[in-house]
Amino acid sequence: MPELAEVEYFRKRWDVGLGEKVRAVQAHGTKRIFRGTDVRAMSRRLTGQLLESSVARGKQMLFRFAGHNWLGIHLGMSGHLRTEASGFGAGKHDHLVLEQKKQALVFRDARQFGRVRFHHGEEAPEWWAASGPEIQSPAFSLTAMTEFVRRHARAPIKAVLLMQSGFPGIGNWMADEILWRAKIAPRRKAGALNAKMLGTLWRSVRFVSRASLRTIGRDNSDPPKGWLLHERWRAGGKCPIHQTVLRRAKIGGRTTAWCPRCQSAR
Ligand SMILES: [Zn+2]
Repeated sequence: MPELAEVEYFRKRWDVGLGEKVRAVQAHGTKRIFRGTDVRAMSRRLTGQLLESSVARGKQMLFRFAGHNWLGIHLGMSGHLRTEASGFGAGKHDHLVLEQKKQALVFRDARQFGRVRFHHGEEAPEWWAASGPEIQSPAFSLTAMTEFVRRHARAPIKAVLLMQSGFPGIGNWMADEILWRAKIAPRRKAGALNAKMLGTLWRSVRFVSRASLRTIGRDNSDPPKGWLLHERWRAGGKCPIHQTVLRRAKIGGRTTAWCPRCQSAR
C-alpha cells in the first residue's frame, strides 16, 4: 500500500497539468472507488476548470480546481496516478481521466481499494480538515504525539503507528523502519513507553518520513543502504547493524519484521 512518500511521488505526476483547463472528464462512475460521490456533478463541475494546486497529507491527496472544486484521491492498495498523451485510449482500470489540451491525467486502480471524492465549496472539504497534523508540520510535536500514544496505551505500539488519525501516511514498512531505529519491540504496549523512548520514537518518525520523502517522494528512488526496508521482505533478511536474522509476526493485523537483538522485548 502506498505510504506517505509514494503518495507524494504520485501527486507530482499530475503537476504537468497545473494551470491548465480540464476539457473533458471520463469516469467509470459505477465503480466502488466512487462510493458516496456524485460522479455526474463531479464531471460537470470539473469540465472547463483550471487545475490550480495539489497537496498530499498522509495517504490522501487533494487537487484544487478553479470554481471552488476539490478532488480528493486515496490510492488504496494498488492505485496510481500518471499522465498520458491527450486522446489516449483509457484501459479498463483507468477509472478517472481528466482530459487536458496536451495531456490526460489518469487515475488507475485495478483492485479498487482506493477512493475518489469530490467537493464543491469555498473551503476545503470537511474530511480533509478533520485529519491529524502532518508529520512534517510543527503541529506534530513530541507533546502531541505523546498524547496520542497515551490515548492508546493498551495497544501494541506497532498498531498505534498504523493509526492514520495520529500518524498520517505511516504504513506497514515505515512503522517497522521507525521501531527498528528507535529500538522498540513492536509488541510493546504503547502505554509502557517511557519519556526517553517516546523522544526517540518521535525523532525516528520524523527522520523516516523526511528521508523517504527525499528519495521515494522525489523520484521514486530507494532510501539509502542500511535501511531495514531492504531486508524486511527478503527470505532470511538480516538486521543491517549486526546481521541477526529478522523475526516476523502479525501485529496490528499486518506482517511485522523486527530485529530481536536491537528491539528486545524487555
Ligand atoms: Zn539488530
